[in-house]
Amino acid sequence: MDTFSPHLAKPGSASPAALLAAQRQAHDREGAPSREARLASLAVLDRLLRANREPIATAIAADFAGRSTNETDLAELVPALASIRNARRHLARWMRPERRQVDIGYRPGRAWVQHQPLGCVAIVAPWNYPLLLTISPLVDALAAGNRVILKPSELVPRFSALLAELLGAAFDPALLAVVTGGPEVGQAVCALPLDHLLFTGSTAVGRLVARAAAETLTPVTLELGGKSPAIVCPDADLAAAAKIIAQGKFFNAGQTCIAPDYALVPEAQARAFADAVLDATATMYPRLNSPDYTSVISERHAERLRGLVAGAAATGATVLRRHDDEPGRRLAPTVVLAPSPDGALMAEEIFGPVLPVIGYRDLAEALRFVNDRPRPLALYPFTRDRSALATLLDGTLSGGVAINSVLMHCIQDDLPFGGVGASGIGAYHGHDGFKRFSHARGVYAAGRVSGFGFLAPPYGRRIRIALKAMLMR
Ligand code: NAD
Repeated sequence: MDTFSPHLAKPGSASPAALLAAQRQAHDREGAPSREARLASLAVLDRLLRANREPIATAIAADFAGRSTNETDLAELVPALASIRNARRHLARWMRPERRQVDIGYRPGRAWVQHQPLGCVAIVAPWNYPLLLTISPLVDALAAGNRVILKPSELVPRFSALLAELLGAAFDPALLAVVTGGPEVGQAVCALPLDHLLFTGSTAVGRLVARAAAETLTPVTLELGGKSPAIVCPDADLAAAAKIIAQGKFFNAGQTCIAPDYALVPEAQARAFADAVLDATATMYPRLNSPDYTSVISERHAERLRGLVAGAAATGATVLRRHDDEPGRRLAPTVVLAPSPDGALMAEEIFGPVLPVIGYRDLAEALRFVNDRPRPLALYPFTRDRSALATLLDGTLSGGVAINSVLMHCIQDDLPFGGVGASGIGAYHGHDGFKRFSHARGVYAAGRVSGFGFLAPPYGRRIRIALKAMLMR
């Protein structure tokens, strides 16, 4: 059993409520930070991540009991640095007032939107990409000029302790404070009267977070999970699609919120597709005990996944694998062919290295299958047929889409990232993240001559003429 628990709060460390009080005082005293101050914070973050690349990847690998350091760099460090670079490059433009139209009837006058920091915000993060899912929202919040309380996950204790230490040494807690601990600390953060709360985690906990935030009317962004389908159309190159889907599914051992959860494949090709997925797993991971393959985060999570597969097998599904041994918590990449659509495997987000493959007769049936379930976080159509693509894009609603690809929409700095329905509320990343953490204040400035007084009581002939003119338009 893993006994490492440096995340336990140190005696005397400030409570989330005390940290918020200090941040509020600082915000009231100092107001919105200048562009220079924001750029300086982002530069500190950039330097800190680059200087600690190795200890960060090592801590995450230890927390997972085996996580490819290449995957940490590729999926966490590189996109985190890209989000910092993007914010630094565009901050001046994002902060500039946005000019808006003034209706001819209200001229002369000017109108604009001023983006102001919301104030004091919190970010609560999960364990599966512990670096990216703390740093990426943090970049957006700091770029927008906020003060931040950050709570990483207790399931990655070494990483969380390191993050607290690094950020604690580099930032004034009145600007950025890290609090570590489990659900009880998460609850304490989510009960605070914040100006915004960005939570990334499961849909079940997301519900509790929304309920807690409602008490203080704290606005929330909820980045949740769900079952993201890959839909392989009849015209698709089956082997190529299988390879891409396998790569996206087994990256981080399937512990990715936007991993393809299951694949819908034309019925006659389902078995060939399953074999092609397994061929790809054998090429990517010739042996499971390889540093390229990631372990499941805990024995509890591994047990749950074994239970889902066993449950599907017991109700008639075919379970296929290319690896026999399962060293430690490394679960073999598994394909489950034709599981019951009503079983637990097809009800819960899988979040592990298990890919159900389900045959469909026509696209209408595939669409029904997707739309009978809660709105997914991502959708992955595989087709070069424009009409099939239009049918899938127009006939579904999902947080995001990658076409003939997987995961890639999430790392585009100029695309909003977020869920819809049960997969989340609100989006961030890049300019959309800056706006998410800003208040868009609408401002109207009257010209020297204004028609406003013309409309004042007592109402008589003047208002009748004015209203006639207004209503004629
Ligand atoms: P989780 O919901 O169990 O925990 C997330 C965070 O919430 C942790 O820091 C935890 O300590 C805290 N927490 C737990 N109970 C709480 C409570 N009652 N009040 C406040 N905070 C509480 O999620 P997890 O297991 O860490 O992560 C896996 C889930 O996250 C999956 O469902 C996955 O799809 C989702 N996820 C979503 C995204 C996204 O961007 N949409 C990204 C990664 C993961």
